[in-house]
Amino acid sequence: MLASNDDEIQLKMKKHNFSAGPCILPQEVFQKASESVKDLDGIGLSILEISHRSKEFINIMESAKSLALEQLGLDNSYEALFLQGGASLQFLMVAYNLLERKAGYLDTGTWSSKAIKEAKLFGEVEVLASSKEANYNYIPKNVAIPSGLDYLHITTNNTIFGTQFKDFPTSDASLVADMSSDIFSRKIDFSKFSLIYAGAKKNLGPAGATLVVVKKDILGKVSRQIPSMLDYKVHAGKESMFNTPPVFSVYVSLLNLQWLAKNGGVAAIEQKNQAKADLIYGEVDRNPLFKGFAAVEDRSMMNATFNLMDEQYKDKFNELLKEAGVNGLNGHRSVGGFRASMYNALPKESVQVVVDVMKHIEKTA
Ligand SMILES: *Cc1c(COP(=O)(O)O)cnc(C)c1O
Repeated sequence: MLASNDDEIQLKMKKHNFSAGPCILPQEVFQKASESVKDLDGIGLSILEISHRSKEFINIMESAKSLALEQLGLDNSYEALFLQGGASLQFLMVAYNLLERKAGYLDTGTWSSKAIKEAKLFGEVEVLASSKEANYNYIPKNVAIPSGLDYLHITTNNTIFGTQFKDFPTSDASLVADMSSDIFSRKIDFSKFSLIYAGAKKNLGPAGATLVVVKKDILGKVSRQIPSMLDYKVHAGKESMFNTPPVFSVYVSLLNLQWLAKNGGVAAIEQKNQAKADLIYGEVDRNPLFKGFAAVEDRSMMNATFNLMDEQYKDKFNELLKEAGVNGLNGHRSVGGFRASMYNALPKESVQVVVDVMKHIEKTA
């Protein structure tokens, strides 16, 4: 069983946090992180006041980078970087560093379309498929990928719409993925990807750091000059210490990765995440008051989107959720309805609380 002790503490103390991001982290991580603000590992200094050049922080950075690669099953042909600027800065950094001639993008939601907009500033962008006409409620499949692309960009989990790639397109192009909302949540062959980026605040740590994992041999191929702060090679050459890194966010990300490793890694967390997803979608499908938003075969294990069949129950449902201590279940404004974000640290029992409220409103409707 995964982290049952942590789940118990969470359930005793706190709200059931379904926030899409910044998101729930393990209680054990919050505990250690708060101790480190007063005194980091008994060194007599706070994590917030030590030099990022101190041996303590260099050790934290090195451990975070190597543990990130280890959990993804990647070797040292990849470099892990902890950068700033969020996943949104990666929308342009990817293109700045990799786009010379032409890139292909799959448009599967708000975040993909933002990535496309930025990439167009740097070169030719071909949108190879889009589910926009259906308000992004599915993942386009069997997309023909032309040869000769500099890279192919996908968003593996569409946080807002609740869809997720289960299979990945194959092509001769380097595969680049925004995994902000599902990195470290399931076991996939990460070595299929040449570059993966993820804003920490969805499933990795607090806001501030962005993890970039890049295959070293794809760098240094574009002819343009890249400003130092936006150049992956510069950051890689300086071990993510070209300038002051977001020290606290990197430290808490390390604590979370250690929690993940201790509890069986991505393979074990995937089983827990699958059980949570099965529970909520099972009720969405069974309960006549609710309907799912995303195409069944593309449903996200992280963000479950659903709507009420009849809006007249909305206030009552929200009131019952509030009484049950449920936080953050409101859907994004572009989808409406509800979204249960079930990141790694969310206990299954919290999902059960929502399911019980759904059953309750059905009985009283
Ligand atoms: C939240 C999110 C982003 C934006 O992340 P920031 O770190 O806020 O820039 C990008 N992509 C996906 C898939 C997201 O869920």
